Amino acid sequence: MDLYEYQGKELFGRFGVPVSEGRLATTPAEARTAAEQLAGPIVVKAQVLTGGRGKAGGIKLADSPEDAEREAEEILGLDINGHVVRKLWIEQASEIAKEYYLSVTFDRGTKKALFLLTTEGGIEIEEVAENNPDALARLHVDPLEGSQPYQGRRLIYGAGIADPSEQKQILDIIGKLYTCFVETDAMLCEINPLIVTPEGEVRALDSKFTVDDNALYKHHDIAEMRDLEAYPPEERAAREKGVTYVKLDGEVGILGNGAGLVMSTLDVIALVGGRPANFCDLGGGGDAQGVVDALEIISADPQVRSIVFNIFAGITRCDVVAEGILQALSQTKIEHPIVVRFDGTNADEGRAILAEAAPPNLHVEATMLDAAKRAVKLAG
Ligand code: GDP
Ligand code: MN
Repeated sequence: MDLYEYQGKELFGRFGVPVSEGRLATTPAEARTAAEQLAGPIVVKAQVLTGGRGKAGGIKLADSPEDAEREAEEILGLDINGHVVRKLWIEQASEIAKEYYLSVTFDRGTKKALFLLTTEGGIEIEEVAENNPDALARLHVDPLEGSQPYQGRRLIYGAGIADPSEQKQILDIIGKLYTCFVETDAMLCEINPLIVTPEGEVRALDSKFTVDDNALYKHHDIAEMRDLEAYPPEERAAREKGVTYVKLDGEVGILGNGAGLVMSTLDVIALVGGRPANFCDLGGGGDAQGVVDALEIISADPQVRSIVFNIFAGITRCDVVAEGILQALSQTKIEHPIVVRFDGTNADEGRAILAEAAPPNLHVEATMLDAAKRAVKLAG
């Protein structure tokens, strides 16, 4: 789960990573009040779950509360890479002497946390890695050993940071960021930029924070940070029903059981010249209600022209899925052609159920490839 900047900063603050004081605002008037409370120059920051806000005009400095209100008016409702701005973070403005970059992420290859530090902050880290790879210092942290000061020093020297006061502050931040990363079960904690003020103070000016979805049950406070409005309505509806659904931009609706099978189905649809409209995983159970819910969500997408069901049944039973399909067809009016491929547990029984009911828009195919071809053809 991705967190907004202000949520990430709240977590940073809890673990002692220095951040500026700020307030949340959802209207220009609230922005003005927040600016009055903070006093002095402030910065108005769009809160959206995407980067590059600065370039998109989502971050503006303001000298007065009136100014803040005006900027808030401009930024609210702005579309930044497909994300509409509904919330603002009003923060005490910082003076910036230097912009560094610090992050910790999980390196699956080595099964260790990986720190990246560079003095080339403020720009996309991918750009630094591509154009100036030597400027990027890396450090793996063994989970059993934890983050040790000598390692942090090595990272700091590696990045070429020579000022003793900066070294001391960044060493402290590295230790605290590691604790924050581990304690919150994060997948990524990124500070870009990590600034040095003209007075030599080091502080996190931005935060990009991703928490492992599978660990959210341990962190109710973080789980509650999820902003349902940040997701497209179909994905929200799916989440509420416990269906894994991701909208794509093609015409063939796809439903399968198991993420791997659904991914393969997307590939096969593309192989035979079609474009998938979505990713939808029924999961292992595949009970009738799950099928009904998934079909409702997929068929609600106006771009969908045909639907392919790809079921390879192990724990799932094809007869149960067949019942689900018929139930969905009787409950909601689905006019899309539906192509079904059953294999595995009770495939024959499942096909028999469908053949007996024989809804006019249902087509059964024996293989995944044939089902894909048929669905693409029916999508026209
Ligand atoms: P991003 O564009 O989404 O990564 O948003 P950031 O929070 O990183 O801000 C982008 C840029 O805006 C920073 O690199 C700074 O140059 C500038 N900026 C953000 N906050 C401040 C601030 O408090 N003072 C000043 N002077 N510049 C800021
Ligand atoms: Mn940034």
